[in-house]
Amino acid sequence: MRKSTASVHEGGYRDKNVYGINTPIYRSSAFLFPNAENLIRYPRYTNIPTQDAPGKKICALEGGEDGLVLASGLGAISVTLLSLLAPGDHAVFQSGLYGGTQHLVANQIERLGIKTTIVPTTNVKDYEAAIKKNTKVIYIESPTNPLLDVVDLKAMAKVAKKHGVVTVIDNTFASPINQRPIEHGIDIVVHSGTKYLNGHSDLCAGAVVGPKKYMGVIRKTAMDMGPTLDMEASYMLERGMKTLGIRVQRQNENAMAISEFLQQHPKVRKVYYPGLPSHPGHKIAKKQMDGFGGMMSFELDCSLKSALRFADSMEFISPAISLGGVETILTFPAQTSHSYLSAKERRAQGISDTLIRFSVGIEDKEDLIADLGKGLRKI
Ligand SMILES: *Cc1c(COP(=O)(O)O)cnc(C)c1O
Repeated sequence: MRKSTASVHEGGYRDKNVYGINTPIYRSSAFLFPNAENLIRYPRYTNIPTQDAPGKKICALEGGEDGLVLASGLGAISVTLLSLLAPGDHAVFQSGLYGGTQHLVANQIERLGIKTTIVPTTNVKDYEAAIKKNTKVIYIESPTNPLLDVVDLKAMAKVAKKHGVVTVIDNTFASPINQRPIEHGIDIVVHSGTKYLNGHSDLCAGAVVGPKKYMGVIRKTAMDMGPTLDMEASYMLERGMKTLGIRVQRQNENAMAISEFLQQHPKVRKVYYPGLPSHPGHKIAKKQMDGFGGMMSFELDCSLKSALRFADSMEFISPAISLGGVETILTFPAQTSHSYLSAKERRAQGISDTLIRFSVGIEDKEDLIADLGKGLRKI
């Protein structure tokens, strides 16, 4: 199946006694046993058909062997890392990862006696140089937040395989519609299902997809630690994913149009979007992505005060935290995701006070550009 077809049809579970077209919400936490399948079903085991359906759908979309949905993106990330790492091991992380992931590494992973190296670039050579005898995992994101840096996935996977290191990527920003890292040799994909997969800014979920040899232990860790996804959220996640293909396609188109509009605007100093030929990651993105995504950033050429006025003067584009929904929202990374850094550290990472991260929705692009114009006139 192609991607939009897979978004609709993969994974769904039909109750053959009732003939409903959608996966039922099975509310039971007690299941008859023994039963014909002799299967012990229990919500925390994430083996209820309502939970299996979104897991199978994301697995099919990513092209993996097994997929598991969990209670949040960080639930999925922590279960994955704790499955692959033990005290005495070493892991390599990209710098500037999603803030919650950085906190997980600093507050939990290192506390368990797992040594870490943070690589400040997206250059594969720097990751290879960081690999030690006890390195078990390389963990990356691409494109990154908020400057949309791009990692060469094929090259990264090749280097990791050469050294026997497992690669994990957070594919939240791209979604499997635009990027399927497993096709490029990456071992395990994690997601915040809260973002594009669900797509309607109304639930919290996570997902892991990978080969059976890792998913077996990841499923066991999830059972031990317990971040299960409840039935309502599982159902809503599967429902949301049915429109993933069409939503992301629209978001790609809107983001491309907006990035071109902003790039020629006199009040905009710089636009970061991997679809623009001027973006440093454009060539690699073009090679490994089917679309450039709905995430972009731009720096306004004005004071912080003016930038805040811009953000508050549009009709329907609003400042809000999170991303990947149907509505266009913006954040100031200096005040949100990167507020824990000093102003000097932010400058070194290229994050100015007037940098705006934009999560482009599925509205009509003419309306989006008109609304942006309204805000830009206030500067
Ligand atoms: C939101 C997000 C996460 C964390 O997901 P939660 O569902 O909030 O736990 C991880 N990675 C990225 C890239 C995200 O945007």
